[in-house]
Amino acid sequence: MALHTATAIIDLSALTHNYQTIKTLAPKAKVLAVLKANGYGHGLERIAKALPNADAFGVARIDEALALRAAGIVQPIVLLEGFFADSDIAILAANNFATVIHNQQQLSAILNAKLEQPLKVWLKIDTGMHRLGINPEQFSQFYQALSQSPNVQKSLVLMSHLGCADDKTASTTPKQMALFDALCADSKLEKSLANSAAVLCWPESHYQWIRPGLLLYGVSPLPQAETIDGVKPVMTLQSSLIAVREIAAGEAVGYGGAWVSKQKTTVGVIAIGYGDGYPRHAQNGTPVLLNGRRVPLIGRVSMDMITVDLGQHSTDKIGDIATLWGKGLNIEEIAQAATSIPYELLCNISRRVKVQLA
Ligand code: PLP
Repeated sequence: MALHTATAIIDLSALTHNYQTIKTLAPKAKVLAVLKANGYGHGLERIAKALPNADAFGVARIDEALALRAAGIVQPIVLLEGFFADSDIAILAANNFATVIHNQQQLSAILNAKLEQPLKVWLKIDTGMHRLGINPEQFSQFYQALSQSPNVQKSLVLMSHLGCADDKTASTTPKQMALFDALCADSKLEKSLANSAAVLCWPESHYQWIRPGLLLYGVSPLPQAETIDGVKPVMTLQSSLIAVREIAAGEAVGYGGAWVSKQKTTVGVIAIGYGDGYPRHAQNGTPVLLNGRRVPLIGRVSMDMITVDLGQHSTDKIGDIATLWGKGLNIEEIAQAATSIPYELLCNISRRVKVQLA
């Protein structure tokens, strides 16, 4: 019998559909598609190639940028978090990569570098999230230095990042936007503020460049597993049933005997575990889709397997396909049941998970 092991089915038509939805939400803005962490677990090069109309791609590491160029990607690529060593600056410029900069040391290194061609820079300002970014008081010093340096392309982009864009009632977001506006008011340069949540909730934040990540993959960035109309999941995670066992009332299942049956029932064992990226902390009751119905996870998640309660009258068979998340079962709900977030679940998909295109 052919048994399926954990498989991520990637639906690239859902990706392009989501891209179109995002364009409708922010019709005037250019799109920097965020592909860091292996395209949020969907495959870096695969996702970039499926988005020929994206205006730019955002990555976190120089290796990701080099991998995209090696795969033939020609669009602009931005190192979104400004992680680079001084010795990387010449590589960034030579490959025509753009980078975010957010501190004085980076500024000095760029001004003093010996470059064959000028570097494209996105200047990150801390407007209130207090993670990365120059302080507002440093803005004019950075702006002057960057605009006068022959090492820096004239098309500087000004950016900031919102800490609470997913909270529609947060007063911090209007404050961050007001500060960003006040600092950049006199500048004709392009600006960028919006991640996926801001694309959805804060149209005033769209400016010239939006930076969606999660929404492209068809997943909601909003809390309480709130789903979004108009986007479809790109990844569906599946595996198969590898054992079906009847147990009596009062029997414990799995490591630590952490779940005990209240009545006679049938236990199904599915070939997926935390070694594949299924969340170890998914609670009892987390739904799995099997033969058209939701069955609850029972017992602890193991490295290679999970157990589910198939009920007393199960007709499920070894080899039946189970869906862990994706089409028919929202990852937002699974993340909540695992006290996690969809970002983490997607990024944790491990190398042994097979990839199949829908
Ligand atoms: N912009 C920046 C600077 C980021 O760090 C990220 C992701 O962490 C994004 C945009 C995309 O965020 P999201 O996936 O929530 O759209």
